[in-house]
Amino acid sequence: MARILITSALPYINGVKHLGNLAGSMLPADVYARFQRARGHEVLYICATDEHGTPAELAAAAAHQDILTYCEEQHAIQHDLGRRYGLSWDWFGRSSSPQNARLTQHFADVLEDHDLIEERVDRLVYSLDDGRFLPDRYIEGICPHCGFAQARGDQCDNCGRLLDPIDLKEPYSVISGSKNLEVRETRHLYLKQTKLQDRIRAWVESKTDFPAFARSIAFKHLDEGLIDRGITRDLSWGIPVLRGGQLRPGFENKVFYVWFDAPIEYIAATQEWADAGGEDWRRWWREDAGAGDVRYVEFMGKDNVAFHAVSFPATILGSGEPWKTVDVLKAFNWLNWYGAQFSTSRRRGVFMDSALDLAPADAWRWYLTANSPEHSDSAFTWEQFQSTINRDLADVLGNFVNRICKFCETRFDGLVPAGGEPGPLEQQLFADVDARLADLTEQFEAIEVRKSAQALRALWVAGNEYLQEAAPWTAIRGDPNRAALIVRTALNLAGLFARVSSPVIPFAAETVLRALGEPYPPTWPAGPAAVELARLAAGRKIETPPVLFKKIEDAEVAEWTKRFAGVEE
Ligand SMILES: [Zn+2]
Repeated sequence: MARILITSALPYINGVKHLGNLAGSMLPADVYARFQRARGHEVLYICATDEHGTPAELAAAAAHQDILTYCEEQHAIQHDLGRRYGLSWDWFGRSSSPQNARLTQHFADVLEDHDLIEERVDRLVYSLDDGRFLPDRYIEGICPHCGFAQARGDQCDNCGRLLDPIDLKEPYSVISGSKNLEVRETRHLYLKQTKLQDRIRAWVESKTDFPAFARSIAFKHLDEGLIDRGITRDLSWGIPVLRGGQLRPGFENKVFYVWFDAPIEYIAATQEWADAGGEDWRRWWREDAGAGDVRYVEFMGKDNVAFHAVSFPATILGSGEPWKTVDVLKAFNWLNWYGAQFSTSRRRGVFMDSALDLAPADAWRWYLTANSPEHSDSAFTWEQFQSTINRDLADVLGNFVNRICKFCETRFDGLVPAGGEPGPLEQQLFADVDARLADLTEQFEAIEVRKSAQALRALWVAGNEYLQEAAPWTAIRGDPNRAALIVRTALNLAGLFARVSSPVIPFAAETVLRALGEPYPPTWPAGPAAVELARLAAGRKIETPPVLFKKIEDAEVAEWTKRFAGVEE
C-alpha cells in the first residue's frame, strides 16, 4: 500500500467556478483519488478556496458585503457544489485560515534568515481621498497605448497590453472615483528568486515523473530567467506581515501578496484537516516525519504551472527545511466555450451551479473526462455533450445494465440464476476483459485522462457485444442452463463495470452496486476476469435500478444553446 497526496489548484473565492475550472483541476484530481482509494492505497485529497487578494475585496464590495462574510458565504457555496459533483476532498480548506497565516509567516521568517528576502522601495499610486495605496485593479484610466478610457492598472482590456498603473493617463480610484492621486514611495518585501534559479532548475531536472507538458512550461520560465518578486501588498485583507512574531515595523498596513500565501495553503489545509480530527499532518508533508515515501500529485491548469514549478518551490527549497515537494505535476490546457475562453467575470459559458440544473453530475463528469482538455485545448459544444451522453452513457452503459437486470427480474425472479458452465464465448470474454482491464488500470495509473475514458468505454462495448452474441433471450427457449450462465455472467459484468467506472461516475456506480447487493465504495478488481465475473453467486437477490442515464433530447439542446449564448458586454 502506497501513500498518495493529491491537491488540485485552489479555486479563487470570487464566485461559482465554470466547467473549465472543474475539467482542468478538481475533477481529474478526484477521479485519480477515487481510483487510488479503490486500489487500496492511502489517499489524502486536499483542496481549498484561495481567498486573499484584490479581486476578493472588489467582489465583496460589489456584493455590499464585508470581506469576511463574503468569503465565508462563497466558501460554503463552493464546498456545497463540490459535494454535489462528488468531489471527494478529504479536506476543503480556506487560505484565510489561522493555520495558513502562521505557516506563511513562518516561511517568510526562515527565508529572511537565509537572506532570501529583503525590503525594497516601490513607487505606487496613493489615493489621498481614500487614504490608501491603490493596487493595480483599484486604478483605471486612459490606456497610454490605444486611448481606451477604462484601462485597468495592470492591463488594458481593449488592446491587451500589460500596464503599470503609473503609466495610465487621467487615472482615478475605482473605490471612490477620486482623481486626487499621487505616486508615493512604499517599502515592500521581495523574494530573491534570482538567487534560487540554479537550485530550482536542478530540482525540476530531478523531477523525471513530471509529464512533458508541465516540464516544458517550467523550463520555459527558467530559461527566461527568474526575477525577484514582491511578496507584500498595501492592503488590509490578507495575512499580516510579521518578523519574529511581531508586526514588522513599517508594514502595519500591508499583508503578504496572495501568490505567496496561496500555495502554502496546501500544507495549511492539511493542518486544518489534522486540527479538525484528521491525523498527523506531518507524515504527509515533512520528510523528517515520514513523508519521504509519500507520492505527491498536483493537478492544475497550464496558467498555474509556473507558480507550482518555480514560485512555490522557491519558497519550499529556500526554507532549507525538509518539506515534501511535488512528484507529478499534471497540467491541463483550456476547455473553450464556442471558440473563446470561459470567463468568470463576464459569466461566459456554463457554470458549476447551473450545469447541475441541466444534467446530473455524472453526465458532466463523464463528458469532461472523455473530452478532457488534456493534451490540447478542447471546445465545448452542446451537440457534442448530447452525443457523448446519449451514446456512451445511455446507449452503451445504461442500456446494458438495465436490460440484463430487467431480464433477470422477469425470467429469474430477480435472483442470480444457477446452472451452466462457461463455454468458448465466455472464455473469449474473459480474455477480452482481462486485456481491457489491464489497459484501463494502466491509463488511470498514468493519469491519462482521455485514454482512461476510452478504455472504460471499450470495456462497456465488449460487454454489450458479448450479450448481443450470447443472446440469453434466445437461449432461454431451448437451453435454460445456458441462459442462466449468460445472465449470471452479464450481471457480473454490470457489477464490474460499476466498480471500475466509479472513479468517473460515482453516483451511477453506487446505484448499480447497491442494486446488485455489492459494497460501495468498491475495491478495484485484482483477480482474473474468470474470478471477477463469478463474484455474484447464484441465488443472490438483485433489483433493477432506475434508468441510469436519461437521453438528452434535441429540443433541450436547442433551448440550452439559446439560453447560454455567449453574454457579451
Ligand atoms: Zn489599450
